[in-house]
Amino acid sequence: MSDVQLPDLKFKLWTMLREDLVQYVPAFEDADTLLCPICCRPLRYEQFSLEHILPQQAMKLDPTDVRNAIIKNERSGLTLLCSETLIVGNKSYAKGCNGWKGRNFDPHISDLLKRGPFSIQFADTHIIALLVVGYLGLFKQYGYRVALTDRSLVLRNQFFNPRRFTKHLPLKSQMVLSGDPHTQYGPETHAYWSDPVKVYVDATKATIAIRNYSVILSLSYDPTIPLARTLAYAPRKHVFRPDLRLAFQ
Ligand SMILES: [Zn+2]
Repeated sequence: MSDVQLPDLKFKLWTMLREDLVQYVPAFEDADTLLCPICCRPLRYEQFSLEHILPQQAMKLDPTDVRNAIIKNERSGLTLLCSETLIVGNKSYAKGCNGWKGRNFDPHISDLLKRGPFSIQFADTHIIALLVVGYLGLFKQYGYRVALTDRSLVLRNQFFNPRRFTKHLPLKSQMVLSGDPHTQYGPETHAYWSDPVKVYVDATKATIAIRNYSVILSLSYDPTIPLARTLAYAPRKHVFRPDLRLAFQ
């Protein structure tokens, strides 16, 4: 896919995410903003940029037959993240959550996806990087219904603590499973390359496969349960109350 189509892709994602958000937070209907799925700041179109969930740098290392068969954006997965300067503590960071992910996590994700003998020293940052990828995959699939919850806030807060686990991160999220990576393209490995982040929800647990790795995220609600939209009263599990707290405070 040529870069000429990127503005078009950004607009499509913006429109889709706005429609999703308005379902849960109707106040956004008349606004010209969207909530960043990580920091949760309401920002305008020009304050967002396209985010490649698996870094573009890592996609260049895929085998030639894979690169020929599946376009880069499909192999990496796309969403929107803010690119507006962030102030965390008393420091400011250019390019918002998009820049923060690029600096703090993308090099680690690329390390993990490199082929050949596993040579890196596995650290908490690698697990946190995979959790961030997992969370973005979860957001891509279920939208604000999973982002605006207290369990996701734990993960979004972890995003701003890239080196060590926060005390709120569940133990089951502090581990990663890995298998042997595929090294070739074929009909049986197509989904491995084309669908970079696969989400399996089981009630309030999401198991997320990122190529040959897998991590677990806790969910506040099962996002596959239908929500009551017209009833005056509905049981708790059919009602969604968005949590709009910022992630870095
Ligand atoms: Zn953000």
